[in-house]
Amino acid sequence: MLTDIKNFSIDQIKTWLETNGVQVYRAGQIFNQIYLHQADDFNNMTNLSKELRRLLAQHYTISRLEKVKKSISKDGSEKYIFKLTDGNLIETVLIPEKNHATICISCQVGCALGCQFCRTAQNGFIRNLTSGEIIAQVRDIRQEMDNPQRLTNIVLMGMGEPLANYQNVVKAVNTLTDRHFGLQFASRRVTLSTAGIIPKIALLGHDTNVNLAISLNAADNDTRSRLMPVNRKYPLKELLNACRGFPLKPRRRITIEYVLIKGINASTADAHRLARLLRPLKVKINLIPYNEYGKNSFQRPEFDTIQAFREILVNHHYTVIIRHSKGRDISAACGQLRAQLL
Ligand code: SAH
Repeated sequence: MLTDIKNFSIDQIKTWLETNGVQVYRAGQIFNQIYLHQADDFNNMTNLSKELRRLLAQHYTISRLEKVKKSISKDGSEKYIFKLTDGNLIETVLIPEKNHATICISCQVGCALGCQFCRTAQNGFIRNLTSGEIIAQVRDIRQEMDNPQRLTNIVLMGMGEPLANYQNVVKAVNTLTDRHFGLQFASRRVTLSTAGIIPKIALLGHDTNVNLAISLNAADNDTRSRLMPVNRKYPLKELLNACRGFPLKPRRRITIEYVLIKGINASTADAHRLARLLRPLKVKINLIPYNEYGKNSFQRPEFDTIQAFREILVNHHYTVIIRHSKGRDISAACGQLRAQLL
């Protein structure tokens, strides 16, 4: 059975080359061909010997994802639906910003965490993505872009919980940020968002240099456990301790994501509680007005409520950004477009 070569780290390919009697520096050349030159066929890697090309083709494929749908929103964001080889669907969003573009990638088909407000959670968990499938979202979309050098930022904020697919995510991130042989993204421009799988947070700081974002969404355990069942296992105090222990690079901060939901977590008392809770941390806060969908009973708060919440945090000297989900007209928020196709 042939496997996608993107599922292997450069070190794994080095080991494989070595056991086949090939010099290990060839691994760098192979990676360059795949990630920088977007090669689709080992046969065209003319800087490698015919024999090595044949050996590679006997063991590996270089696959692409099957694009089943692309929708472009009024705000310019582009939503892709990809079909995996087993028929499962995932979604990826390309978000143009002023001077660059950001890609939001998925790391699981579905999600097991069961957050009450999240569309992805509603169909449950199907499977982890392989590292090849995670990388392919970036590689394939970059290949399609008129101006690929604009794509500088990656957020792991699509479908699934990245820290619940730890090994594949770390392997993918390491290839995405390999400055010599991989896709050459700067680690400081890659952000992983987690609902708070505490034991993996410290590991992430050890195994990668990416930014950490925490989906906090509530400032007290009762509300958070109701919205996010993962909080029962990994409650707020321990989560914030894990954040404090996260090795922050100079001039970096942890991103706190807070989805504002009417009548649930958006009062001025909530804002004050949040301000108190975050005091020991170096953070910036992203407030995300709830993105309504389907028959779900959760609602976005009124404009004034959102502003009042923000103002309290600003008065406490936090950096606060209100992030409206991009691509609302094409259902680009977390699992919604895939859900329409199911
Ligand atoms: N599992 C990871 C990443 C996927 S969710 C995590 O929890 O961080 C990415 C972000 O989308 C999270 O901050 C989540 O709170 C937010 N989100 C999910 N559904 C949403 C909705 N309907 N409206 C607004 N934000 C939503």
